[in-house]
Amino acid sequence: MVQLQRIAIAPHQLQGRQVDLSAEQQHYLGRVLRLRRGDRFIIIDGKGGWWLTQWLDGPNATVLEAIAADTELPVSVTLCAALPKGGGFEEIVRGTTELGVTRFVPVLSDRTLLKPSPQKLTRWRRIATEAAELSERQIVPEIADPLPWGEALNSFDSQADRYLCIARGESPHLLTCLRASQLDGATHLILAIGPEGGWTPKEIEIAVNTGFQPVSLGSRILRSVTAPVVALSLVAAVWETINH
Ligand code: SAM
Repeated sequence: MVQLQRIAIAPHQLQGRQVDLSAEQQHYLGRVLRLRRGDRFIIIDGKGGWWLTQWLDGPNATVLEAIAADTELPVSVTLCAALPKGGGFEEIVRGTTELGVTRFVPVLSDRTLLKPSPQKLTRWRRIATEAAELSERQIVPEIADPLPWGEALNSFDSQADRYLCIARGESPHLLTCLRASQLDGATHLILAIGPEGGWTPKEIEIAVNTGFQPVSLGSRILRSVTAPVVALSLVAAVWETINH
């Protein structure tokens, strides 16, 4: 079972036990993975469902059985990242999807230089799907439309523990804060990472006014694509070592 390939499907592609594969998925299974008629693979619906599936022919495959999986973090994580230059957000999506992020909110901050096109959003969603397949996630993280920081702040779950990563200053370390969140039974975290030029004082002020705790990721300045990976690694380390 472990070696079987995974592909993500849209919910409408699964009707009862019948799976209707797209032309792109057939190409991927047949030409890229070299599977043949009768071979088995795993489909994931991006919402937590996994099924052992057999390819019949062309677009037709059939579900053999549901698979119980347990690869998700026990805490939901929304990552708000100010959009870095170039392909930086792609790196963030790929790396932090592997680490267990639940939802992305791309942020247009005062110092954001990138103005993303709708095609970028489609590309980010495809990268999230690929990374979720490869890392054996049960869900595919959602990627929201990019939002200005002020609007993003108003859109958040009021029950979530919120942490704002700031590269300089005397803030407590994120690890210390996460341990406290975990002991308090937090079920949802919001982590915010700034752009290459950092958050402006005004952006920090409005975030703190809506309940964000400023935190440090250590004594060195991390790139805006490295910081989210470090933050998610700390979340995974804290929540996945409970009772171990
Ligand atoms: N030019 C900014 C400065 O001098 O403050 C540095 C920005 S840093 C390249 C990009 C983002 O990564 C920051 O806004 C912050 O969210 C995060 N970051 C980088 N290093 C960090 C650290 N040591 N602690 C907390 N956050 C950090």
